[in-house]
Parts: sequence; C-alpha cells; structure tokens
Amino acid sequence: MTSQELRQAFIDYFVRNGHAYLPSASLIPDEMSTTLFTIAGMEQFVPVFLGDAPAPAPRAVTVQRCLRVAGAKSDIENVGRTGRHGTFLEMLGNFSFGDYYKSEAIRFAWEFLTGVLTLDPAKLYVTVHTSDDEAQRLWENEVGLDPARISRWDEDNFWTMGPTGPCGPCSEIFYDTGAGNALGPDDDGPNKGNRFVEIWNVVFQQYNRGADGKLSDLPRKAIDTGAGFERMLAVANGKVSMYETDLFTDLIAAQPAVGATSLAPAEQLVRRRIIADHARAATFLIADGVYPSNTERGFVLRFLIRRAIRNGRLLGYPREFLADLAAAVVASLESGYPELRARLVDVQNALRTEEAGFLRTLDRGSELLEREIDDALASGTQAISGADAFVLHDTYGFPYELTREIASERGVAVDAVAFEQKMTEQRERARADAAAKRAMVTVTDVPTLSSAFEGYGGLEAEGEIR
Ligand code: ATP
Ligand code: MG
Ligand code: MG
Ligand code: MG
Repeated sequence: MTSQELRQAFIDYFVRNGHAYLPSASLIPDEMSTTLFTIAGMEQFVPVFLGDAPAPAPRAVTVQRCLRVAGAKSDIENVGRTGRHGTFLEMLGNFSFGDYYKSEAIRFAWEFLTGVLTLDPAKLYVTVHTSDDEAQRLWENEVGLDPARISRWDEDNFWTMGPTGPCGPCSEIFYDTGAGNALGPDDDGPNKGNRFVEIWNVVFQQYNRGADGKLSDLPRKAIDTGAGFERMLAVANGKVSMYETDLFTDLIAAQPAVGATSLAPAEQLVRRRIIADHARAATFLIADGVYPSNTERGFVLRFLIRRAIRNGRLLGYPREFLADLAAAVVASLESGYPELRARLVDVQNALRTEEAGFLRTLDRGSELLEREIDDALASGTQAISGADAFVLHDTYGFPYELTREIASERGVAVDAVAFEQKMTEQRERARADAAAKRAMVTVTDVPTLSSAFEGYGGLEAEGEIR
C-alpha cells in the first residue's frame, strides 16, 4: 500500500461513516494557541471543543500536518533513532463534536485497522486509563478483545495538549512488530525500541484544564483521535520502521551518495533519516510561511536546516545539497497537499540562502579555530579553552561537536568541563529571559527553546547539533 492509497483509504472510510472531510490546518497554529507549532489534529478544533466556535460538522475527518520539535512533545532527539518518530508527521484523525462517543470511536478504529487494513488482530494491544471501566468494557464486550491484551495506565492514558486546554482519558492501540525488534536500550541502531508501536490514540475529550490547573467539564463530550500516518503505513506494509516506507525511501535515495565519513554504516543510516525528516519539516515550514530567523518559529526552522547541513557534512555530502531535496519532498507529499508545488521555488530559494549563510559561518568558524589550534600547539597547552569553544558556538554559530572533531584531528583537546559550565550559565540566562517573555505572550511551549529570542544558541543548548 502506498502513502497516497493509505491517506485516501482513511478519508474514504470515515466519509463513508458520515464524517465531513476537512483540510489540514497550517503548521502555524491560531494565535490563541498554546503551542508554537501545530502538534496534533485536534489543534484546529480547540475552540470547538471549548464551545467558543460552532462545530464545522457533527463528525469530521482530517489528515493534519504536525511538527513536534518544540515543547513537551518534542521528538527532536528521537528522529531517525527510533523507527517511529519524526519532527514532521501527518496525523490521521476522526472527530466527533458532541455526536458519537466512546463506543463508536473504539469500533471505528478497530474496524479500520482490522477490516480495511486487514492487520492481524493477534498483533494488536490496547491501553485504557485506570479510571475508565467503560472503555475497558467496550473493548472486551463490543470488540471482543481478550482482556490479556488490555492494560491500564494512568498518566500515559490521559491526553493533554499542554498545561492548559481540552484533555481527557484516552485509549491507545499498539502494534507488535515482533520479538526480534525488541532491541535493548543500549542499542543505538536505527530500529531501537521498535517492538510495540503506538499507532492510534483515541482521546475522550471531556475536560478543560484551566490556568489554575483545575479540570472543568467541556460543554459537550467529544472524540478526538490521532493516528500516526507514517507508522500506520509502516505496519500496513509489514515494515518495522516508518523510515522504510515510500515517504522516506525516496527522500533518502534522493540524497547524495555517502562520501568520506568516519560514521559507521548504522549511524550513516540514522543521519540520512534525520536529513530526510528535517527536509520534510523545513519544506513544509517554509511553504506555510516561516522563514529562517533568530526568533521563535524562524529560529526553529534555522536550527532544523543547520542540523541537516551539519549531518550532511558528517556524511561527506557535497557542500550544498539541502535545497535540492525540496523537489523530492514536494513529489512525495503533493498527492496529499496539492498546494505544495506552487511553493517549491520559494522553498528552494529560502533553503539556498540559509545554506550559503551557514556555510559562510562554518568557514569563518573554521578559520578562527585553526588559529586557536595553532596557538594551542605553539604554546604547548595542547587544548582549546572552554571559553574559546563557547565563543565559537555562541557568537559564530559553530557547532561544538565540530570544534572537538577538528581539534582532535590535529591532536588538540577541548576543555569540555569549562565549555559545559558556560553552556549551563547561558541556559540559566535564557530561562530567565523566556520566563519574562512568557509573562507577555501566550506561547507556553517555549521553555525548551529558551533562548530562541537570543539567537542560535538556545535549541542547540538543549539538543546539541548532532
Ligand atoms: P509516542 O509515545 O510514540 O511518542 P505519543 O503518545 O507522543 O507517541 P500522541 O500524542 O498520542 O503520540 O499522538 C497521536 C499519534 O501520533 C500517536 O499514537 C502516533 O501514532 C503518532 N505520533 C506521535 N508522535 C509522532 C512522531 N514524532 N512521529 C510520527 N508519528 C507520531
Ligand atoms: Mg511522544
Ligand atoms: Mg505515547
Ligand atoms: Mg499517545
């Protein structure tokens, strides 16, 4: 089954069952949103859940583009390393706004997975909230699921979008990809921890959490489901990893051949997957009107682009390669987003400009670093100070990992302890700044992007470019 076929099969199934097909919202949420980017299919319906806007239809189905790179649900560290996380993802969703509730929602999910996709029920497991005896009963009695396949969890089965907003207990469906994939936590390979893949989250939207942390009832109980499109495509095709589906294989094949590199083959694959993910994210962000900058969303975009370029260098790619991947991203996603093609030239131009700028940064940083290495060798210290490494990182935007690598090639160390100390100080400054900023705006998912407002340092401080 191709990605295009799965997207359509999902839409068709829910339209057949009385749902209105509504378009994906932008990656940039409504200005009242509490998240920096759209992180779930439900996000465009928050005002509907809260009773502040009329329901667009009693039942709806969407394929929502999402970005999970900032805030509590960020997956930046997981990308390419698990087979089930991207920063960019498409979330399949069916929604009921005061129409059907738990029983139908559970039956729709089960019927789609086992009836339409013909997944083997013996490979499916579900979770239910500790308090939710009703969902437990529905799975057992209406679906006929063996209770041994149902487990009860507390926080993991209570979905919240953020510290405030619509929330409620949920029931999740997992697919068992087989014991052979239960790789241990020490294994850093590309399929780490992939045995039980969470494919579908059925959320029973019932409460609103206010700014004081208290739960109040929503005006109408609602259904909000979020199913990972890439993961579902993988399991529907018997693949362990979403990176093995057509959504990624073409994008990985479109990358240059690996050149001179010190990375082991498994790590090369991880890096190629990271580049594919970041190319998708960057393309869609620019298509949605975000441009690289030093603040907020533009900063995150800049971070993703630079991280992709950095990984390309580690793989021995030619100096400029990223802008050339945009066409492959558009080819891969335009069946779902026909409007994307018209944005291609703009995307390519933005990527080209940013790529050239970052390469200049890297060149300038390399020059300075070479001089510092010469000094370290001439003076006999054989080491770059933490302060110098920090200036390279913070002022020149030159990745620390690169400083260490280039220095070590010439037999010079870097004072990692002093560098870390500088980073900690910067993080503390940034946190204070972010707190001050949060007092002024309603964006609440910026803490992990604490110094987004200061420049390039922030996201890297949390997730060093690697
Ligand atoms: P996980 O525990 O695997 O990180 P999650 O519980 O954070 O997933 P939800 O918030 O429940 O995810 O989102 C609904 C669905 O979206 C998930 O069941 C999964 O199928 C999919 N999904 C979530 N995060 C990602 C991601 N980073 N990349 C691809 N699919 C994702
Ligand atoms: Mg997650
Ligand atoms: Mg989960
Ligand atoms: Mg979940």
